[in-house]
Amino acid sequence: MAQRTTSVTARGFFGRNGTLSEWHPNYEFRPGQLDMAEAVEKALEERRHLLVEAGTGTGKSLAYLIPAFLSGKRVVVSTGTKNLQEQLFFKDVPFLQQHFATPLRVCYMKGRNNYACRQRIYDAEREPVLTGMEEVADFQIIREWEKTTETGDRAEIKTLPENSTAWAKVDARRDLCTGQKCAQFDRCFITQMQRKAMESDIIIVNHHLFFADLAVKEGEYAQIIPDYEAVVFDEAHEIEDVAGQYFGLSVSNHVIDDLRRDIVAVTRRKSLGSADLDRVLVSLQDGVEKFFACFPREEGRKGFQNRHAFAEEYADEYQDLLSALEMTGVHLQMIRESVDEIMPLFGRARELCDTLKTYMESESEEFVYWIERRGRGVFLQATPINVSQLLGEKLFDRVPVAIMTSATLSVGGGFDYVVKRLGVHTPRSLIVTSPFDYQSQAMLYVPQHLPEPRDPAFTKAAADEIVKLLELSEGRAFVLCTSYQSMRALHDRVSFEIDYPVLLQGTGPRNALLEEFKRTKNAVLFATSSFWQGVDVQGDQLSCVIIDKLPFAVPSDPVVAARTEAIKREGGEPFREYQIPQAAIALKQGFGRLIRSRTDRGILALLDHRITKQRYGQIFFDSLPDYAFATRYGELERFWRD
Ligand code: SF4
Repeated sequence: MAQRTTSVTARGFFGRNGTLSEWHPNYEFRPGQLDMAEAVEKALEERRHLLVEAGTGTGKSLAYLIPAFLSGKRVVVSTGTKNLQEQLFFKDVPFLQQHFATPLRVCYMKGRNNYACRQRIYDAEREPVLTGMEEVADFQIIREWEKTTETGDRAEIKTLPENSTAWAKVDARRDLCTGQKCAQFDRCFITQMQRKAMESDIIIVNHHLFFADLAVKEGEYAQIIPDYEAVVFDEAHEIEDVAGQYFGLSVSNHVIDDLRRDIVAVTRRKSLGSADLDRVLVSLQDGVEKFFACFPREEGRKGFQNRHAFAEEYADEYQDLLSALEMTGVHLQMIRESVDEIMPLFGRARELCDTLKTYMESESEEFVYWIERRGRGVFLQATPINVSQLLGEKLFDRVPVAIMTSATLSVGGGFDYVVKRLGVHTPRSLIVTSPFDYQSQAMLYVPQHLPEPRDPAFTKAAADEIVKLLELSEGRAFVLCTSYQSMRALHDRVSFEIDYPVLLQGTGPRNALLEEFKRTKNAVLFATSSFWQGVDVQGDQLSCVIIDKLPFAVPSDPVVAARTEAIKREGGEPFREYQIPQAAIALKQGFGRLIRSRTDRGILALLDHRITKQRYGQIFFDSLPDYAFATRYGELERFWRD
């Protein structure tokens, strides 16, 4: 049995005849895993930041978890997805616990809306907040479960639909929480989760929670994660995006409407309604409708550089909405003294008013301002153009050790890109290659006869090639596309030409589609970026991954455009410094879906021959694992039939 003590080393665990080999009947010595564990151990000891690219199959979870346990420090482990969080907590930690003599003090924390709010459940029982039979049925499930659950984490209720509207009415989001004033505070699942975290050595979170916490640390709301000495980011290639979301600003017609609805519900429940309040809420509703109607009607994301001119042109609508939000705040302030439930509503009204004002009037050039219309929603967003400075100040200068790992961090064998984008100062770094034999397990096929992706004839030619490839692999494929438009166009052409079951992203929740793919023999899934990462299908069921184009970020996207402009202004070359490395990492992620174990074997196809014809193509090849390679279909066929 191992002790949680600093006298046990990573080498003692991961070495050829180390502790792990005694625990695990099928343990294979993996030199890369030992290298990584020793690098993590050293970083924790020397209080240095560390970047580790660990190829698939390295066993990286144990390579950071064990040194973290041995360090005696409180370490936060942040994962890219809730699935990985659960895998660490429910699989890896119990495995380790069996062999440690002392109890491992570990907990996981998710965002508040993953937990039930006991108070809202009790309120919902008394008041008519549920609509429809489905909501009532879901609520009954939640109500029964609440009596016995220890964590309040909705992931425990397997029968609850992913998009249950009943859950949204009883979750523990901050919006309606009265905190210490709540009668359930001591029994509250959030309070208990935070207490558990205070007593834990390892706290497993996800990037969204981590950056939400980092962003509020200086704000008025209390921090969520207790103080820690080190953080390990798994799937660290996602940090820039997630940090950008939380260090930015966001306000929409939906959030203001939600506030108005919550005010109506709470004041009705507490009999606090008045004719004055009704008038204020009517002008708030009116203000939201009129102001957001001033924005363009087209769906999608677009830049919003002319905010100041817009605020002048639509001064009446803008000022009316601001005053309605202010008046709402004033009315809530008058009643908040006597009723605790009003407090969070008052806070939200004030926060929304401040955010909208900052968004419309700020002079800061460090953000890119953009708008997005999705259906009836209009979202006003501001994203930092460069998160590196913010990350430097809030994370790397403050937390003694940040360890970032992923199967895709380096570009062309180096870390310059990620170091610059994240602003991590003088980190140590390590590349651990995968133990898989890529030459015999996968062939990368790049047909040369297709037109360039910009050519109007590309879609038809690509669709014909996909049909040929799917016949060879007998379905069992992902067709990963760089845009929705391309996904739909290829799907529409290919699905009529093949006899295999076809699935299309967007026709169901992501996890349900993935499960269906795993269950359905010879299935073919058409998808975009959300399936390029975090998807693990082992075995024959996934034997072919086809990518339509090199995954360059869309240059007209407002955030991408602002970032490329900023690099230009500083005298850099955005294509070389930003667009190519970003696409190389994305391509490595996409192809990484295929080979997930030593026994997997399959085909990778890239239908974009710029990789072989343009000079920059070499950077992509230098960033990918050492796959077998072919440009002719005959070679691919031979590889496949061998
Ligand atoms: S403290 Fe907040 S989240 Fe917890 S039960 Fe009360 S209202 Fe709900």
